Parts: sequence; structure tokens; C-alpha cells
Amino acid sequence: MIPLAVPDLTGNERTYLNDCIDTNFVSSVGAYVDRLEKMTADICRSKYAVAVSSGTTGLHLALHGYGVCPGELVIIPSFTFIATANAVRHCGAKPWVTDISPDSWTMDAAQLERELFVKTKRIGSELIHVQSGQRIAAIVPVYTLGNIPDMKRIMKIAGTYRLPVIADAAAAVGAKYRGREIGEISDCAVLSFNGNKTVTAGGGGAIAGNDEAMMCRLRHLSTTARVNAEYDFDMVGYNYRMTNLQAAVGCAQLERVEKLVEKKRYIRRKYRELLDEVSGISFFPEAEDNTSSCWFSGIVIQNGNLNCLREICVRLKNRGIEARTFWKPVHLQKPYSDIVRADSLDVTESIWDKILTLPCSVNITDEEIYEVVGTLKENI
Ligand SMILES: *Cc1c(COP(=O)(O)O)cnc(C)c1O
Repeated sequence: MIPLAVPDLTGNERTYLNDCIDTNFVSSVGAYVDRLEKMTADICRSKYAVAVSSGTTGLHLALHGYGVCPGELVIIPSFTFIATANAVRHCGAKPWVTDISPDSWTMDAAQLERELFVKTKRIGSELIHVQSGQRIAAIVPVYTLGNIPDMKRIMKIAGTYRLPVIADAAAAVGAKYRGREIGEISDCAVLSFNGNKTVTAGGGGAIAGNDEAMMCRLRHLSTTARVNAEYDFDMVGYNYRMTNLQAAVGCAQLERVEKLVEKKRYIRRKYRELLDEVSGISFFPEAEDNTSSCWFSGIVIQNGNLNCLREICVRLKNRGIEARTFWKPVHLQKPYSDIVRADSLDVTESIWDKILTLPCSVNITDEEIYEVVGTLKENI
């Protein structure tokens, strides 16, 4: 079977894990956790990074830290992995979903601006969604597949409306925006080190940011808000720390981040090159002045729908190739039927059920890519 996306653990992963066992540091305090935070901050070019137990908990923690409260609204794109919306709900808030722009599959900044202009008003220090009377608490742009939206415009809008911008950068390690790194372009960026991401720690995540007080607050909240060894706590905290075992794997992966991202970009280019002639398909977008981290690769079946994609997946599976459909938008998910929606979600609705993801593990060989392409050509 050629799998969709599995990790490559051929670096120092085993050595570092053995070191954790030899030194008895397997839990949430340890040298690898500190090192992973330093490495993450370096790579993202942020001043600080806080290691957490997953991308989801990182998003929840950041939203909570930036003041998202029950009954409020958080703006997210509908086209995202469900965790973005779940983190909003974990704060007791509700998503307000926007559409995406077709040339990056990320939050449509022009629509965001229109929606805020038309549907909100400022009452005292608070920005209120007029129709529901709810306070708007934050904007969460998603770096879809490692594509970065028009952050210059989004940050400007956020400044105008005084909203914090917490980026869901779960799959964006190695992405660049107009020559800048992901730790430099939002208030904070949340990464995931889940097993299927470009850089994995088995599970885990990190928040990269530059506001010292906020980042201290997030670290404190992630470690049960403990003040001292005598079981004193000064806030309702969370147990969201990454373990040293996870961080050991994560550090070994981060040492190779450039190679891992380069391979992801190579895979994307290779599929495009080899499938360029095929009619009826198009490719994953990459905004012009950005460098996508190309987390996943695949194709868009232009006249496709979920059923036709499912059939292709079955045919490929029978030939030993794992392909999958992609994210079903948040507003079409059962727990999110009552969220606030932007006027149009047309791009989201026209694209999500046409995307087929193809094998793109960092250790995939050229021969395997040729096999995927050959088999795909016979089966679409
Ligand atoms: C993977 C992913 C997450 C969740 O990360 P976990 O570490 O699995 O919790 C959130 N958002 C996006 C866009 C993702 O791709």
C-alpha cells in the first residue's frame, strides 16, 4: 500500500527517545520540551513558542488567552479542518464562517472586510454583531495546506476593528508570506505536530508569538496555572503540556524541517508535471508571492462530486494506493448547523467535494509517484 501521509522517523528520533528513557524524563518537564520551543520560535521567527499537547488544544488555549468568552463570535473560514471550529466551541463561543478565495483556498479578506463593515457596530469598547447581539472576539485565518491568506489586509482589518488574529497554522510549518515567516505575520500562530503533518511529534502542537506577557500567560495556563509546588493555583488552568517523549520526536523532526518541506514541495511539483496533460482536472493553488509548505498534494476533479471521488478512492485502494476526499466545510457539519454565515460561501461549496488528496509522505519515492500517476490516469 502506498499510504497518504506517514512520517519519516529516520533521523535522531530513536536516539532522543532512548535519551528520555535513560534520563527518566518522559513527562511534561524536560530538555526536549524546552528545545522544541526554541526550535519552533527560531523556525517561525517568533520571539517565543509554547509547546502544547495538540494543535486543537493550542488553538483553544490561544483563543481563551486572547479573551474569547462564552456567547461570543470568532470569525473562521468554513473551509477548514473541524478542529478550528471545535476550539471556538471549547471556549463556549460560536464560529462566524467566511468563504475562501479561489486562488489560495484561504479566508477571503475582501469578504471579511465587507461582512465586518455591514454586519457589526461598535458599542463602547466592544464590537457587536448586530443581528445576534454577540461580541466578536477574534479572527482565525487558516493557512490551508500551508497556503497563507492576504495577511497584510487581514491584519489591517483586524487593527481597524481591534480584533486579535490567531492563525491556525497547523499545517504551515515552512510556509512563507512575502519573505516573512509564520511567526511574524499574526498575533500568534498555532502549529500541529500530529502524525500526518509535515513535522510530527506523534501528537502535539505549539503556539508561536511575540507578546511576552501573553505567551507567559499561555504557558502558565497550559500547565494547570500552578504557582508553586504546594498546590497553589491562581487561575483555572489546563493540562495541555507536551511531553518530553513527544518533544524528543518533534526535535528530531524539526532538525530536518527544511528537507521535509522541500520534499513536500517537490511532490506537489512532480504531480503537477506528470498530470499536466490530463483534461478535466486542476491543481492545488499557491498564491503568487507566497511559498506554500505544500502539506498535502492532490488534484481537483473539475466536474466531480463526493460520489465520483469515493469511487476513484476505491479503485485506487484496490490497486494499493491510498487517496482521500478532503475537508467537508464547517457549515455543513451536524454540530455547526446554527452558526453565523457570511452572505456567500460559494467558493467553499463549489470546491470542497472535488478535491482528491494523493499519497504525499515525505519518504515517497519517484517510482511510487509514477505508480500513483499511472494508476490515477487509468481510473479518473
Ligand atoms: C491538523 C489540523 C488541526 C488540528 O491539529 P491537531 O494537532 O490534530 O489537534 C487544526 N487545524 C488544521 C487546519 C489542521 O490541519
